[in-house]
Order: sequence, then C-alpha cells, then structure tokens
Amino acid sequence: MPTVFDTLPATAEEFSAWTWPRIAPCYDDLLARELTAANVEQWLTDWTRISALLDEVNTRYTIATTVNTADEETDRRYKVYLDEIVPPMLEAEQKTKEKLLASGLEPAGFAMPLRKLRADAALYREANLPLLSEARKQILEYEQVAGARMVEWEGETIPLTQISPILEDPDRARRERAWRTRSARILDDTPALTDLWRRMVGTRARIAANAGFDSYRSYRWQQMYRFDYTPDDTKRFHAAIEEVVVPAARRLNAKRREQLGVPALRPWDIDVDPTGREPLHPYATIGELETKTSNIFHAVDTELGGYFDIMRREGLLDLDSRKNKAPGGYSLSYTVTRRPFIFTNSVGTHDDVQTLLHEGGHAFHSFEVAPLPYLQQRSEQMTPIEFAEVASMGMELLAAPYLTTEHGGFYTPRQAARARVDTLRAIIIFWPYMAMIDALQHWIYEHQDEAADLARCDDYWATLEDRFRPDLDWSGLDVEKRAFWHRQGHVFADPLYYIEYGVAQLGAVQLFGNAQRDQAATVAAYRRALALGATVTLPELYAAAGIRFAFDTDTLRAGVELIERTIADLEPLAEQG
Ligand SMILES: [Zn+2]
Repeated sequence: MPTVFDTLPATAEEFSAWTWPRIAPCYDDLLARELTAANVEQWLTDWTRISALLDEVNTRYTIATTVNTADEETDRRYKVYLDEIVPPMLEAEQKTKEKLLASGLEPAGFAMPLRKLRADAALYREANLPLLSEARKQILEYEQVAGARMVEWEGETIPLTQISPILEDPDRARRERAWRTRSARILDDTPALTDLWRRMVGTRARIAANAGFDSYRSYRWQQMYRFDYTPDDTKRFHAAIEEVVVPAARRLNAKRREQLGVPALRPWDIDVDPTGREPLHPYATIGELETKTSNIFHAVDTELGGYFDIMRREGLLDLDSRKNKAPGGYSLSYTVTRRPFIFTNSVGTHDDVQTLLHEGGHAFHSFEVAPLPYLQQRSEQMTPIEFAEVASMGMELLAAPYLTTEHGGFYTPRQAARARVDTLRAIIIFWPYMAMIDALQHWIYEHQDEAADLARCDDYWATLEDRFRPDLDWSGLDVEKRAFWHRQGHVFADPLYYIEYGVAQLGAVQLFGNAQRDQAATVAAYRRALALGATVTLPELYAAAGIRFAFDTDTLRAGVELIERTIADLEPLAEQG
C-alpha cells in the first residue's frame, strides 16, 4: 500500500515548494503508527526521508543567501520558510523524538542518537521557553553591538574586522596604531556590554535553575552532549597547557622578539611575520587553487582526491571572493543528495589554501558518513564537534607534506617549509589562548553572582593573562589587558563553546605524528573514523582514528615535542623562503 511518504519528491528543489499543510501528513503518519521492534527501522527510514528534505531545503537557502546576499527573492523565500515551516516542523520533530523515546525501543546503530535525544528531553521545561527566547534575543543584541563596530582608519571609516590584516604590517608604528584603534573601539562598548552581560548571566542562571541544575555550566554540558568528559577534565587540560605549551610558546616568542629586534613583545607584535618577508602568493586564479588543492588531496589519498574532484565537477565549490558574497568560510552537507558544499572567500593568500584544506576535511566527513541510513547518525548537528574538527584540522596537517610543486601543490620547498612552520607555530600560540577563554568561562559559571559584573570577569581575565601569556608586555595597557576577552564573541554568544578546538587540535596533532610513521594506515584509520558519523562515543571515534581523546599532560607533551621537532627540522629551509 502506498504511504504518504511515497508522494514525497525526490529532490529538495521540488520539495521547497511544499507548504506546511502538505508536509504535516508525514509527521501525522509517523505519530499515528504503532511503533514495534518489527517496524521501527521502516519508521526511522521514513522519518529520515522527511527530515532530510526539510534539512536540505534549509541548507540550500543558507547557501543561496550567502553566495548572493543581494538575491532578494531567495531571501524572501527563506524568511517564509523560517516563519511558516520551521516552527511547526520543530514541534512535530519534538513529538516524533518523544514517541521514539517513549517506545523504549533501541534500534541498531541508534544508541548514541538516543542518548542525545534523552538529554534533550531531560532539559526540556515549559517554563524555560520564554527564557530561551530572551537568551536568543540577548545574543542578537550582542551581535548588533559587535556588528556595529566601525573605526576611523587613515581617513576612512571601515568595519573593525578590516583592522586585522594591518596587524601583519612590518611597520611597527602602524601596527601599534591599528591595535590601539581596535582596542579603543571595543572599549567604547564597555557600558553597553556591562548592562547586557548582567542580563545574559542572569537569564542563563534562571534557565539552569528551572531545569533543576545547580549551575548553567551543568545545564550547558548536557545541552552540548558532553557525555564523555567533565569540567574537571578540561581543567586538567588547562593545567597541562600551562605546564607544557606555555613554555613552548615562550620559546617561540623569545625567538620572535629577537627576530623583530624589539626589547619586549607588545600585543601588536604577535601577528606580523618576524623576518619581515612579503606574504606568500600561492595562486593566481581560482582554477589554479582548485587544481593544486586537488593534487594535494590526491597525494594524501586517491579516494579523498576523487571526492574533491566530484565537488569540482558537480559545482559544489564556491571559493572566490566577490561582491554580494557573505564573509567567512564553511562546508555544509546536503542531507538528501548526501554531498557537501564548500564556501570560502579566497583572495590569493596562504590562508585561503589552509582554509580550503580545512573545509576539505569537513567535506570528506560528509562523503564518508553518506552510507549511514538515518539522519540522526550522520547529520552535522549530531556529529560531535570535538571530532568534526579532527577531520578538518587533521586534514590540514595530513596535507602539509604535499604543498610543494613536486606533488602538484603550490610552493617551492622553501616556501612550503615557511607555510608549514607558520601553521605549526600557530597551534602552539593558540592552545594557551584557548585555555584562557575556556578557563574564564568556568570561572564565570562557578561564580554566577559575582561574574554578572563584567568588571569582575575582567579582573579574573587579567590573572589568566599572567598565567598563560606571561611574556606579553602590557605596560601602560592595563585597561586593554583586562578587557581583551570582550572581543571573543563565543563568551557572549556561544557559552562554554571553545574547548572543542583545543581538544580536536590535539587529536589532529596525534594524526600528524601517526602519519609520519605510517601515512597510508593513518589515512585509512582517519577515514574509518569519519565514516562512523555520530554512531559511537567520542573516545571510540578517536580510537578508531588511531588517536586518544585526551586532556593529559603526557599526550600534550608528546604533541608539543612533535611540533617543536618539526619546526626545528623545517626552520633552516623556511628561513630562506
Ligand atoms: Zn572547522
């Protein structure tokens, strides 16, 4: 007997014309069916069919509105979708999840998705709906404050974000002016942020209390599905970073200070090339960027290279920077066609190459999970970020040995060595900063009353600067030092989200080490782990990739030693490049 699901179109393009009254019967059917061990797989298959179509329509709108921000017709249709389809869809999805949980069934390959659905259900409180909406509005308010930041720079009014490249200018006085201009602009927002922050922390505390949690951190931990590690694990990681990464960062900084010929490193001295070289120019056209990146991926693994070629053939890459394109870069997955799409703003720099290698890793993740039957096993929302970033950061490091023209890549051996040294240094410099942002947030949610006062957070931040970046010279910049974290949007808009990058980076570095011993086996394990999608725990995902999900000093020390050793090997060549 044909069901309502047999009337569904095969493609999201066709489906995007469907209104909610046409869609609703699918959910009605799922909710009406009596669920048994015998029919649960068909039920899950049908659920995936409808959810995947809805998800892909959303993805297509996201992509269409970012590749052309001036496309008013698409923008209008997306708003209709968000207003008319998404709210009833969320309600129907919630009921569908509840039905599965209530059935007590445990379909094969569904243990992890069920664990997440149970966590969602446990957090749900009717009383929190208005507070969650208030919290979302507070985030929008933060984004308005941050998005409105313009500065006067050399006779022009420019967005604050355009100051960053000037911090790489070899002219130290100009860098200092740029840095001070940026700081002053962010400090202008302190009164507004002080008021907004007090409300944000208050709302978060009430949400947690309503849901029966002692702190917002405990609530958020469940909400982010952090089943496999605790706040204490992340604190162990901070301590390990302090013990083994901070000294390594100090060694790099001492060398930087010497190369720059300055008595002390000021905050505007950390982004510039310390030897004053011109930036690398890896490619002239987008076609060249694509071809050379394809060659590099082929050198990593023939099949991964093949995935990238499919993306080229099928128009799944949008890499250039042009008018009416949104900023930034991403890889998103079409859940019906099971293909990824990569979006970047490439302008001719080495950063573009690094970004494409990174997004390529995410895209390969989408290819590898494609055979998994159910959306909850393979969707981006269910895939743990702590591992998704291993796929991408890991690919950056796995691809690094093939950047040279010898492998069809971009660079002479000297240039490639220089690019690789920069990437490895950035990892060492990032970890302490990551620990600071994470440690600040632990302090905030352990001291919810005190931390509602932005100035008290500033006090705590200053202690973190001393602990994790002791060699930065902040003389005469006390206010700037205390408020440095105000620029980190995550603390305001994505509470407690940041540690993922630090943990995944350690996973990526372990992959890099494994590849030096056995490249083929490492890439094979990497691919097997990606293919598991969201079906196993984080330690199991890491183990499948041949690495450890780790927060300890020994694993971190091994990673730091590997990085320092590789830098030392590459440096003589790099310094000629
Ligand atoms: Zn990423």
